[in-house]
Amino acid sequence: MTLTVGVLSVQGDVYENILSLRSAIDDLGIDANAVEAKTPEEISSLDGLIIPGGESTTIGHLSLANGSMKVLKEKIANGMPILGICAGMIMLSKTASDKVVGQTDQPLLDVLDIKLERNSFGRQKQSFEADVSLDSVGISKFNGVFIRAPSVLEVGSDVDVLAKFDERIVAVKKGNVIGTSFHPELTQDVSLHKYFLSLIK
Ligand code: GLN
Repeated sequence: MTLTVGVLSVQGDVYENILSLRSAIDDLGIDANAVEAKTPEEISSLDGLIIPGGESTTIGHLSLANGSMKVLKEKIANGMPILGICAGMIMLSKTASDKVVGQTDQPLLDVLDIKLERNSFGRQKQSFEADVSLDSVGISKFNGVFIRAPSVLEVGSDVDVLAKFDERIVAVKKGNVIGTSFHPELTQDVSLHKYFLSLIK
């Protein structure tokens, strides 16, 4: 059976993730398609989904308006693997506040018991790259691209910490749900996309 892996195409770096997924699918030699998905109908038919980086407030409000938030929550609760990248990880979280403006009243999926600080490493000008290790998933060195990135301030007892940078939590996993502060789709290294695909049955 051909797997259908989506990238939520509401806002953000959608195409970069489609390209990374296609390259990871080729490397693994699996029978899968990488597609854009935005409507509840498109999301319903997916076997896995990436919520890309971008602007979490925009992604949340538009997904709420077109009815996707409900179907996303249902699919994730039913075990669909999901990778939330930067703004995507914010979308997965239980609570998020901005480092500068504080509490933002934004729609969140609340499928990952984490408390996040948005823009935790500073503004656009403070974007940076740094190596991170995700040893527990077999990735010893990964070039993390951090762009107005969040950090995880607190994790629930059932959430695994996959990576830290500068003492701060920058990648987490709970079952079928993964979140990263950094952008794997902005590197040539598709090992994280491959790991994500390996979670899809
Ligand atoms: N700072 C953005 C937000 O809070 C996320 C940035 C990103 O996805 N690169 O939504």
